[in-house]
Amino acid sequence: MKRIDVIGFGPGNYEYMTIEAVQAIKAADVIIGYSTYVELLKKIFAEKRYLDTPMKREVERCKMALEEAMKGQRVALVSSGDSGIYGMAGIMLQVIEAAGSEVPVHIIAGVTAASSGAAMLGAPLMNDFAVISLSDLMTSYEQIMKRVRCAAEGDFVICLYNPKSRKRQGHLAEAADIIMEYRPAETPVGLVHKAGRDDACDEMMTLGELKNADVDMFTTVIIGNSMTYVRNGKMITPRGYQLEEV
Ligand code: SAH
Repeated sequence: MKRIDVIGFGPGNYEYMTIEAVQAIKAADVIIGYSTYVELLKKIFAEKRYLDTPMKREVERCKMALEEAMKGQRVALVSSGDSGIYGMAGIMLQVIEAAGSEVPVHIIAGVTAASSGAAMLGAPLMNDFAVISLSDLMTSYEQIMKRVRCAAEGDFVICLYNPKSRKRQGHLAEAADIIMEYRPAETPVGLVHKAGRDDACDEMMTLGELKNADVDMFTTVIIGNSMTYVRNGKMITPRGYQLEEV
């Protein structure tokens, strides 16, 4: 029966997918996604039918999903992490709306990079935090930096997605400079690379060192707030619990 499931399949490996995501992928007639993700899923769900498009063809991918659903197919439209966080959920609903279609759409939540990354580092997101993408494809550079400034001023723990690409070398350094206007250079920072995948790794540094950090498009950066500290290799943002000496 025709329907579209928009699925966030988590950071990568099977263990991080929700049961609902796995069930929806298994039940789908066709799986549609960005080519890199399709290659990843083919290793796990080998016998399925796949359609892929290159990066930045999100609207095309959604139209493809709608076309397949109109043919009576059950479609799984996949994106990494959570499909509602810089993923395909919003654009799919907008395409359905623009087409005046009544195809049922189900959004299936996934483990976003902030969660899988935070778990590798310790417990850095225990208090209020802000997620900001440094990609200026959809949001202007000025707007991004304004959000960085407001989050820094509000003492939010800050998760940066899309920290760097070939075209955007300077954004991370600029963001670090802005945040240092509000927090000391010693503020702990955690870098998580390819969380939830076989080659995952993480690194701790200070806000002062972040400018020169080696990051790429598979890295999530978590910058502590004024309370965050590192103990025994774990990054911790205390929530205010008063502990007796133990
Ligand atoms: N929908 C995704 C985010 C897509 S935006 C989610 O909810 O996780 C792409 C950015 O997410 C990357 O540039 C990176 O900053 C982050 N990201 C995605 N997968 C990651 C992973 N496995 N490890 C670390 N960061 C990741």
